[in-house]
Amino acid sequence: LLTVALVSTGHEVLRGHTLNTNAAWLARRVTEVGARVRVVLTVGDDLADLSRALSAAAAQAEAVLVTGGLGPTEDDRSREALAAVMGVALEHDERAWRTIRARFEAAGLAPSASQRRQALVPAGAVVLPNLQGTAPGLVARAAGAEVFLLPGPPREMQAMFEGQVLPRWRTGGRLDDVASRVVWTAGVPESEVAAPLEAAMRAEEPVVGTHPDEGEVAIRVLARGPGAASRADEVVRLAREALGPAVVSERDDERVQHALVARAKDRRLVLTTAESVTGGLVARMLCEVPGASDVFRGGWVVYSDAWKASALGVPEDLLRAHGPVSEAVARDMAERALARAPADVALATTGVAGPGPDAAGIAAGTAFVACALRDGPTTVRRLSMALPRLTVQRRVAVAVLDLARRLLAPR
Ligand code: ATP
Ligand code: MG
Repeated sequence: LLTVALVSTGHEVLRGHTLNTNAAWLARRVTEVGARVRVVLTVGDDLADLSRALSAAAAQAEAVLVTGGLGPTEDDRSREALAAVMGVALEHDERAWRTIRARFEAAGLAPSASQRRQALVPAGAVVLPNLQGTAPGLVARAAGAEVFLLPGPPREMQAMFEGQVLPRWRTGGRLDDVASRVVWTAGVPESEVAAPLEAAMRAEEPVVGTHPDEGEVAIRVLARGPGAASRADEVVRLAREALGPAVVSERDDERVQHALVARAKDRRLVLTTAESVTGGLVARMLCEVPGASDVFRGGWVVYSDAWKASALGVPEDLLRAHGPVSEAVARDMAERALARAPADVALATTGVAGPGPDAAGIAAGTAFVACALRDGPTTVRRLSMALPRLTVQRRVAVAVLDLARRLLAPR
């Protein structure tokens, strides 16, 4: 099994101004293609720090992926650090320089003098073409490891990983059989998702974990070595059996909104929304799904009491009697939306996003979600959570989408 160390470079990453998405992306890809990430290091632009990080990474893994520091400026020092660790000089590479110049000329520009830095190559290193940008990458043996220098901009880095790094690893036969699976669930707390998987989570192979994300919980399974696929599928089967209706999807790009749109489409049902606390987020999430227009054409954002009454027709005495954050108002909002829209299913939200309580003293994080069906009863759920404002809004939106998804269970 190929072991890999990741080195992220640059002051802006070290100090937290740039979110280190490169390390996250690479860690995920490296794992799913069948190698093992041993360590992730982050350093600034200081040459001594960079060289130390390269040596430390090379000591812990067979391959090292460095991102950033390949640009033309003085603070781009990855090439120098690699040369230092290899104990060789940097040399001007005429082929790399011609490629850089050609890229500029094609854009009607002339490379600046500092751009010549990008054609500097440690003696013995191999240049990796960059089809997305100007800075070429490099690969060399250094301190006993195969060290790749990749550009910092994510698009360039990703293309170089896929186009240059991965084929080298594949032809070398250095990657293991892997099977990674995900099962997304909603409406069940993480502890309950994990409970039926306890034994599987204790076992060393496959690796099984639960990961909460914005009101949904992912079960991730990673199996390696011969028979990986069937071992991973066995855990998925177990999860599916134990969690049944809570299972939203088995794909990372399908979350609760995708599952709901798919079910509505399947049953040829049209959805509408009446949102207070979520301020349009439910509609926004539905519209994330390609082809959402087949099942969603419009809805209401009625944030204030006055708008709930005037735009949707919620009776003012109902609002006065129960308060806007109440089971009765959530139910009424959903049913009014259904009465006013050419739709079969209405989703409604009302609640207190926070940070403080509302005028009536209802605590932040209290919410009601409702789902009204043209040919069935209206279901209302109460939620209560102590979370930041945007998280409350997100959780409420997920809750109402999940409520509708469950009510539209395949027949
Ligand atoms: P350039 O030629 O743009 O200077 P470079 O290879 O020298 O590229 P850096 O200067 O380190 O790379 O980073 C360039 C840009 O790439 C950063 O400003 C940032 O937007 C992005 N970037 C760098 N490192 C990371 C990282 N670890 N995660 C996400 N983005 C990053
Ligand atoms: Mg740079």
